[in-house]
Formats: sequence, C-alpha cells, structure tokens
Amino acid sequence: MTPSGLTAPSAIPVFSDSRNVSKFLAKGDPLELLAQELGPKFLDYRKRWDLAKSFKRIPPFPLHVDYEIKSLCNLRCPICPMATRKGPQNPISLSVTRIKELIDEGTQYGQASMGFGGLWEPLMSNDLPELIAYGREKGLVEAMFNTNGLLLTKNVSRDLIQAGLTRLMVSLDAVSPQTYAQMRPGSDLNQVEDNILNFIAQRQKAKSRLPLLRLSFCLTKINQSELLPFLTRWETKVDFFSLQSYGRFDDKAPALFPDDSAYTAKPSGRCAQPFKRLLVRHDSQVLPCCDLSGLSLTLGHESQGLRQIWNAPPISKLRDKLKNSPLADLPAACQKCQSKFEA
Ligand code: SF4
Repeated sequence: MTPSGLTAPSAIPVFSDSRNVSKFLAKGDPLELLAQELGPKFLDYRKRWDLAKSFKRIPPFPLHVDYEIKSLCNLRCPICPMATRKGPQNPISLSVTRIKELIDEGTQYGQASMGFGGLWEPLMSNDLPELIAYGREKGLVEAMFNTNGLLLTKNVSRDLIQAGLTRLMVSLDAVSPQTYAQMRPGSDLNQVEDNILNFIAQRQKAKSRLPLLRLSFCLTKINQSELLPFLTRWETKVDFFSLQSYGRFDDKAPALFPDDSAYTAKPSGRCAQPFKRLLVRHDSQVLPCCDLSGLSLTLGHESQGLRQIWNAPPISKLRDKLKNSPLADLPAACQKCQSKFEA
C-alpha cells in the first residue's frame, strides 16, 4: 500500500488490512511468531478464527471474549467518547470472581482468547495479572489488551509478562510532545515512551519473546504529519504497528478526519465480529463487538450465561443481517460503523 504523497519508511509492508485497521510489520509476521511460541493450540485457534471470519463455521462459543472490568479512564482523548464524559466515576464493575466464572464457562466450550477491550483503560484495574494467569492456566491460548501506556510501570510490565500476556497494544499516535498533547491530553509522552522501553527491557530480562508489542497510531488531521517519523522511530523496537482510522463516534465528536486518508484501510467485505467474539461490559451487558459504534447493540446480560447469549435469536439475527443484507438494512450502529470513511 503506497498512499499518495507518502512513502513507508524501509518499505514496511502491510500484512493485514481489516475494515478500519492496517497492520504493518516491524520485525516478523506476528502470527508466525505467535505460532512458534504457542504451538499447535494457537494454529488450531487461528483456523477456527478464519472459519468464523469467513462465515464458514460459527463456533459453539465466542473464540475471544473481552471483559470491560470498569468504566474508567485516566485520560479524555478527543478521539474517544470518554472525552465528553462528565460527573462522578462510575462505581459499577465486573468482579474478578465473576470473570473467572465466565472464563470457566468459556474454556469448557472452546473459547481460545481473552482481552480487556471496551470503553476504558485496562491498567486502571490491578486485577489484570491475576485474571490473565487464571485464563492461561485454564487453557486460553491468548491474552491481550490495548492501553494508553501511562500506567505501564516496570512492575506492571513484569507482572503482565509473568502472568502470560501474549500481546500488548499501546496507543501512542505521535512523536512530538505538542501533537501528543492534542491527541492524548493529560498524558506525558516522555513517560509513556519510557514505559514502552521499560516493557521491552522487562521482556528481555524475562528471556521471553512474548508478549508481542504493537504500537497503534490513530490517523487524524492532528497527527497526520507524524505518521512516517513515528514508524521510523519505532520500527526497530516493536513487533508491529497498527494504523487505525478515526471513527466519529457521535454527532458532537470533532471532525478529525485526516486530509489524506489513503494510508488507512477502506472498509471492505462484511463485518464478522459477532461470528468470533463478545464483549462483557462493566455493567454486565453483553455486546457483539468492541467497536465504539456498537455500544448500543446489547445482546443480553452476562448472568444469562455467554453460551446462551451466543446461541440466542438476537445475535443470530444480527449475524444474518451482517452476512446477507445491504448496508441500509443493518442496525443503525452497524451502518454508522461501516460507513466511517464516507464522512
Ligand atoms: S457496530 Fe456492527 S458493523 Fe461495527 S463492528 Fe460492531 S457488529 Fe460489526
């Protein structure tokens, strides 16, 4: 992919395009590296993932489940709905005990991966290492999450590595303090960069190839001039990059679309998220995806059991629409999600 006016440093190849994320190689193919480290169980899981993604086989249970433990974030970035959140912190959270029960249910029926997606900053919880270790011991092949990196201290890095995290994704989005301050107000670029380097050092100390480290760059008109310096700065240090398209999450959100969006993947194909994954939110609502547009697509309450929700009419109807219907017949949230680039 060579967008107009941009040349990728060192011809960094794109190895995977999804509907709104392009992944760039930095060192080697992450899936191959994970296969080397995690063995046949990983290959089997990815085979089931590809079958689900191509609508060929719906697994008996979501292959990946995200647990949004709390509804908290330490930043208010303009690219996120949290930016407009006011009032007291939401005290409701998913308990460690309940998440472990959900993992027990999942590993019984073929769940292979866990994450901490949703609308929050996962490092606001101290329970991640315990939950990751529990999930991996129970047989989950992968454990992963995205973070803004501000709370990724040396000790946190050490604990996550020891617990068996397999992928860590840090959203960085800039190289200059001025641009970073606009993308991530309230954060500290030097601190986050140090945290990332300390994480790499801790992984070396543990003599571990995992967790793989991905840096993410959400392309907006604020930071578009820093994409190539960003890739150049980090390409020898991290395992891979992702370039994410800005999705305007509601009508009040700023129009931050970049001037030249050619570097970002265009939506292509049909969304297969509800064929592969579920998200359990802090208030126990269950959703079919982690996309910010999909926060209204509630499928049920986790107390019903995830297997029951996975096989119930609401998600079956959604899958049918996503697979067979034109854009105009999809739920409003999906229409908005699929047409991000048209704004
Ligand atoms: S909002 Fe709809 S189209 Fe977007 S990821 Fe979720 S299920 Fe897929």
